Amino acid sequence: MPHTPDCSKCGSSMAAGFVLDQTDSFYVVGKWIAGAPVKSIWTGLKLRGRDQHEITTFRCGRCGFLESYALST
Ligand SMILES: [Zn+2]
Repeated sequence: MPHTPDCSKCGSSMAAGFVLDQTDSFYVVGKWIAGAPVKSIWTGLKLRGRDQHEITTFRCGRCGFLESYALST
């Protein structure tokens, strides 16, 4: 997980978390996908061969600003 940054808008401390993604049956962590979204009638979106990284998002407790990182693992 990236080092917790200070808010770039107001300078307050931020808290680490993630943006929730959801399917019909379970919860997952949101991912960054390389390129523009291409729809698929089978899976919703075509992801094959795309660079993918789980997203860590920090939230400022004072102003609510979100700062996201999609690091390589
Ligand atoms: Zn802030």
